Amino acid sequence: MAETIQCDLAVIGGGPGGYTAAFRAADLGKTVVLIEEGERIGGVCLNVGCIPSKTLLHAAEIIAEARDAAAYGVKFPAPEIDLDTLRGKKDQVIGKLTGGLAGLAKARKVRILRGRGHFTSPNTIQVTPAGAPSEARQVRFENTIIAVGSAPVKLPFIPSDDPRIWDSTDALALPFIPGRLAVLGGGIIGLEMAQVYAALGSRVTIIEMLDQIIPPADADLVRPLAMKIAKEYKAVYTSTKLTGVDAATEVLSISLEGPKAPSSIEADALLVAVGRRPNGGLVGAESIGIRLDEKGFIPVNERLATEVPNIYAVGDAAGNPMLAHKAVHEGKIAAEVIAGMKSAFTPMGIPSVAYTDPEIAWVGYTEKEARAAGVDYEKGAFPWAAGGRALAAAQSHGITKALF
Ligand code: FAD
Repeated sequence: MAETIQCDLAVIGGGPGGYTAAFRAADLGKTVVLIEEGERIGGVCLNVGCIPSKTLLHAAEIIAEARDAAAYGVKFPAPEIDLDTLRGKKDQVIGKLTGGLAGLAKARKVRILRGRGHFTSPNTIQVTPAGAPSEARQVRFENTIIAVGSAPVKLPFIPSDDPRIWDSTDALALPFIPGRLAVLGGGIIGLEMAQVYAALGSRVTIIEMLDQIIPPADADLVRPLAMKIAKEYKAVYTSTKLTGVDAATEVLSISLEGPKAPSSIEADALLVAVGRRPNGGLVGAESIGIRLDEKGFIPVNERLATEVPNIYAVGDAAGNPMLAHKAVHEGKIAAEVIAGMKSAFTPMGIPSVAYTDPEIAWVGYTEKEARAAGVDYEKGAFPWAAGGRALAAAQSHGITKALF
């Protein structure tokens, strides 16, 4: 009979929410099992999200800085891109961080169990290693935290088995540098990847259904980036829908519908970055009495508790915004609540950052949100064109804005 493992706390998912919860609970004296189906802990953020994207964006920044240095009288020859070395650098950074986490888990005696976790009751999870169902084990726990994160949304009318059609994970793997890259979705992930590939030499087209890129941010904050990419990219089509992709030919033929867009464009690769869906529905949560909301999130209160008393949820699986620092903080709070502390998740604001060039960052109410909520406000804005430091660094297109 397969081994049954007993613990105070079982955490399903080893991403920022899960590993933070596991480490904090262990520090507070709990015996902890961390269940992760991937090869390494670190989740999306460390393996196929924040960290690899920021590593590649750094390379993009070096390329852009070298090009822009000509205006300062410093000329470099055109860059030579060695994709293998770039991939290797990215993997090295990931390896260092995920290896560090494994060390932190060991030091705290957090037991990492490889395999897919699935509830068999409100106090037991079956953990099945990939491809080895006979090696499944039961974990029996007092409390559990669901930290299973999210996955890219797939659109049913876009082929997903074509090596030229990517999600963010495919794009981060740097399979090749397409001559023409179409990016569906003008959100943060789409624009960060667009910036990487544009720097590596792709001619980029952005297709965004709403009337502005980075739709949640205020239009004035997005404008400097919008103006820059309008000049540098092949095209940026807002208020535009992608209606179909013909992948039967040598180049992808992409059908569009939008006021300024042609009816079709050609591309050598298409990145689909239209958002992420929570994974909470994949662990059998509903079979133990947890109802998911209409978007698939696991509803939680400010103590991160679900409607089943000993079950908590954090991170991307527990609601928007899907950001690593939100997951980390929720993980810490959930562990403290389980350890009997009076902690609660009550942020006044959660910062969002697009690590594009120029970067865009905001926290708290946007003007749009303030208006929608009927909040009376005043604003102060400072254009960087009047800032000596910004002018000296050729960043005069920026703006800082504060709402009161
Ligand atoms: P995840 O990181 O998704 O981890 C969940 C883990 O659970 C995974 O390891 C998964 O394998 C595991 N799992 C799932 N189901 C099971 C199961 N049944 N059994 C066992 N294990 C399971 N956020 C930022 O704040 N800043 C950024 O710059 C940033 N950049 C990003 C760039 C990209 C390209 C992407 C895709 C995301 C980015 N994010 C960024 C978002 C960030 O990665 C997520 O918000 C964060 O990883 C969520 O953490 P999590 O712990 O909730 O889940």
